[in-house]
Amino acid sequence: MLALEEYGMPELPEVETVRRILDRAAVGKRVVGVRCGRERLVEALETDLTLDDLVGGRLDGVERHAKYLVLRFDRDPQAVLHLRMTGQVAAVAPGGAREVAGHPVPAYDAPLPAPTTHLTLDFADGTTVYLQDPRHFARLTLLPATLVEPYIRERNLGPEPPDPSLTVERLAAMLAARGRAKLKPLLLDQSFVAGLGNIYVDEALHLARLHPERAAAGLAPPEIARLHGAMPAVLAEAIPIGGARIHHGKATQVAGFPRVHARRGEPCPTCGTPIVKYTLAGRGTYFCPQCQPPGGKSQV
Ligand SMILES: [Zn+2]
Repeated sequence: MLALEEYGMPELPEVETVRRILDRAAVGKRVVGVRCGRERLVEALETDLTLDDLVGGRLDGVERHAKYLVLRFDRDPQAVLHLRMTGQVAAVAPGGAREVAGHPVPAYDAPLPAPTTHLTLDFADGTTVYLQDPRHFARLTLLPATLVEPYIRERNLGPEPPDPSLTVERLAAMLAARGRAKLKPLLLDQSFVAGLGNIYVDEALHLARLHPERAAAGLAPPEIARLHGAMPAVLAEAIPIGGARIHHGKATQVAGFPRVHARRGEPCPTCGTPIVKYTLAGRGTYFCPQCQPPGGKSQV
């Protein structure tokens, strides 16, 4: 079985990269064919909608709401794609050029369709979009346009950094309301803030110099300000490089990213102390014991 923690799961920067790929490769084009090798991947919010109904629709845009991608067509059904833990999207142009993002398995240059390709969308100009998923957690939800907004609202997503409504004052109030809750599991809770997963919470806490188990209500105002700045900063850093590269539990740094996640024993980029890994709330957690001391009061 593929160990989930060994690989970077698609998080906000990876999903935003998929959005940009679909935007470049498929927007403005009509679907001429759909193949699905795994019916469970597709769910329909209205029973009369089927995958075949996508044929003939023109993709007019791709929106992202945290880790949900809304594929807007010029006619119903619309589609919401969630890559969950192991989804990967590849777009192949008629000349063979490809762009890939999401889970690193299969390899980005593997022949397509791969044995784990579960869904294929063919577009009128010869572009093909493939969805791979070795663990088949990904979901494509078909729904009428009238249900897209309610569907996203029902996901109960918190504000997404850098949402301008998530001011430092609002974050301070949100943290104060969570009492003794530990920072890392709290930041992973999509109803608290949306879009941060295991990689980016570790990165944001390191950048903010906060221990993963600090109590939410126990942060001093400068610490809250650091966290407020760090969350959008780590996402903004990862999006241009297409997200994190993690294979077999080891990160390959691109432009100094990631700083701590999947870098156990390697030097902290700030102070050189070896990075520590332990398990917190069931998740592999990486931090620098010097920059992120348990009681606060960073030495750096
Ligand atoms: Zn350090």
